[in-house]
Amino acid sequence: MDENVQFSSLKELHTKLWDKAQEVDQQGNKKIYTQLFDYAIKEEKLTTNENTSDANLQVKDSEDGISWNLIQSGYMKVKAKHPGVWWQYYEPEAKGGRKKTRRKKCKRKNKSKRIDAGYYDKYRGWYDVQGCGKCYDYCRWVGNSGPGGNPKNKTIKKMKGKSKSWWSCRLANKKGRYSTRKKWKKGFNYKKCVKKGQNSALPLQGNKSMFGGGLFKGKSIISTNFESGNINHIKNVQRKKDVLVVLEIENEPYPKNTKRKYQNWFYFKSNDVQRKSMTYTIQNINVFGNDWKGFNVCYSYDNKNWKRIKTSFSKKNKTLTWKHRSTKKNVYFAYYPPYTTVMKQKMMMKYKNKKGVKAKTLGKSKVDALILGNGPLNIFIVARQHPGESIGSWMIEGFLKEYFSDVQRKVVQDIFTFYIIPMANPDGVKLGHWYTNKKGQNLNRSWRHNKTSETNAIKKLMTEKKALLYLDLHGDEGASKHFITSCIESKNKVREPFNDTMAKFCPNFQKEDYYKRHTHKVYGTMDCFDKERTLTIEGAMKHSLYKHKTIQNEGIEMGKAIYKTVIRMQEYICIDK
Ligand SMILES: [Zn+2]
Repeated sequence: MDENVQFSSLKELHTKLWDKAQEVDQQGNKKIYTQLFDYAIKEEKLTTNENTSDANLQVKDSEDGISWNLIQSGYMKVKAKHPGVWWQYYEPEAKGGRKKTRRKKCKRKNKSKRIDAGYYDKYRGWYDVQGCGKCYDYCRWVGNSGPGGNPKNKTIKKMKGKSKSWWSCRLANKKGRYSTRKKWKKGFNYKKCVKKGQNSALPLQGNKSMFGGGLFKGKSIISTNFESGNINHIKNVQRKKDVLVVLEIENEPYPKNTKRKYQNWFYFKSNDVQRKSMTYTIQNINVFGNDWKGFNVCYSYDNKNWKRIKTSFSKKNKTLTWKHRSTKKNVYFAYYPPYTTVMKQKMMMKYKNKKGVKAKTLGKSKVDALILGNGPLNIFIVARQHPGESIGSWMIEGFLKEYFSDVQRKVVQDIFTFYIIPMANPDGVKLGHWYTNKKGQNLNRSWRHNKTSETNAIKKLMTEKKALLYLDLHGDEGASKHFITSCIESKNKVREPFNDTMAKFCPNFQKEDYYKRHTHKVYGTMDCFDKERTLTIEGAMKHSLYKHKTIQNEGIEMGKAIYKTVIRMQEYICIDK
């Protein structure tokens, strides 16, 4: 018999854990133990009333990411020290005391908004892991080493040179879309159902996959298991002439009180759709101003060359809809051609060993910087504070291309030093966010009050090096032409000449500040590092293909124009101090 001590108050359990915990780390976190891992808990949250919703943030996650939530749901037992008795939380009944019935009520929903269908095999599908009599837990092989066969035999697979695959479940009433690698260490022996919600006592018929209850020949067709991937696959509907794929953009972890929760980024792969008539619809999109009007989805067969596809937008229904009949087996769709941390890494490798180039990683953050030249004019160029605005990274690519092909580079090197920060928010990029880092913070509102480690690291370098001009590269979802904005127009000496020169080199650039005209949300309130030295360059992400072969070439061309412009700003930048 287990000697579990049960707690019906989360606060009491937390307090006990804190009081009895023995080991303390350098940050003052204490160590607690669960059946699988050790966790660190923080004191600062101890005062939190258990009724508030952030009670589930009290455990500092270990890398596998199980949170306080699992303890809260009674799923995990904990102890404060080794050895010790297991403590377990159980949710108090709302009214009338505890129920007498033994039968567990089925938890139906997983709290993760993100869906990963996993590898397609006959084992993938709905299981009754919670043991309630019906199947609400979705299990499948995930990871990089491919599917591993029957999970009854093994739950981990490792291929040479690749990271592990593991049998993982999106458990009902839990937060994450994956269970940990160690979760089924002792074996997986659960009943599979033909479809979601089915009685698990019914015999299993055939090997059809049951994802989403769709009728699409039993196949799941949407995947996002790659960097910057973002979409929730809600369901497939087989119609007379096509298959309707219903999708939603994943919610970003904004703080509750954020009024405008921008989340435009999506990026997913549609599998096994060759010569099939498909209609895709993204429902429940967040609509602000002009953001979606005139927007056309980007698609690619090779994940490199991108084109647009005619897309209809309904403001009333909050939907984006497009039809597509693929000529290839698989097709990618995205808000804009993606630029991932892996691509950034490749770019760093390509340039960092060139003559006159230095590379560094700023502080403890994962933010990289490339330093070009050794002239007295220190110029900072930062992209991807907002992770979804991938056009900024393409501008960096263009800037570097132009710099390294400039025959005058030797002269430029002696005048300027460029500090290029190609990706200010790598975590947000990995997660497929539009606007925030992994904690839901907007970096572009964090400069004045030092709220994020990413901006702090950049700010430190800028201060050290006495930046004379700071170009902040963004993408805008509303405008149809690229433009420049700044904090205080009148005080910014570079703005006007920069604007004029940029217009000469960049055909799709407008001199007018789009934000000013549209009384944009941030106009005049931008949290700039230095109001007099910051220029925000906004690439219009809705732009047409123009004459390019692939959409992102527009960003690359913009980057080239930025380079040509900035080297002509010498006399305006060279201000006293
Ligand atoms: Zn932005």
